Amino acid sequence: MNNRTLIILKPDSVKKNVIGEILSRFEKENFRIAALKMLSGSKELFEKFYEIHKDRPFFSELVTWMSSYPVVAAILEGEDAINRVRQIVGATDPNEAAPGTIRKIYGTSKGENAIHASDSWESYLKESAILFPEGVCFAG
Ligand code: UDP
Ligand code: MG
Repeated sequence: MNNRTLIILKPDSVKKNVIGEILSRFEKENFRIAALKMLSGSKELFEKFYEIHKDRPFFSELVTWMSSYPVVAAILEGEDAINRVRQIVGATDPNEAAPGTIRKIYGTSKGENAIHASDSWESYLKESAILFPEGVCFAG
């Protein structure tokens, strides 16, 4: 399966007031928003979410940052969603991201890089179970 993915608009995007702009970009790229919420996640929630990175040097800073301010999480639905969304999102470091990608346009640093997107179907299943345990609201 590869027709859904999960994104999080990180604290820097919420602070910059570009939630609508970024969601609109995905709508224009023909994705449907299948679930959507704003949340203030706890450190524990993001420790679980980013568990794969728990031994990396940036882990503690990442978890602190993600839990420091509200974020917007969404499940996007569309053909080849995992790969297409990662392409639209761009490289982890906004300075290395391709022109026109969300991280190039809205990101400022590796930490404040505007958006998260699932990197595989397995990651999507794990991440959506954490952030949307109630399931999706819409399937188009
Ligand atoms: N990150 C960071 N410093 C690094 C690498 C990653 O702050 O040197 C943060 C960054 O916000 C990134 C997240 O940790 O989005 C997860 O890292 P990953 O390598 O999975 O990048 P992504 O899949 O988000 O592109
Ligand atoms: Mg990743």
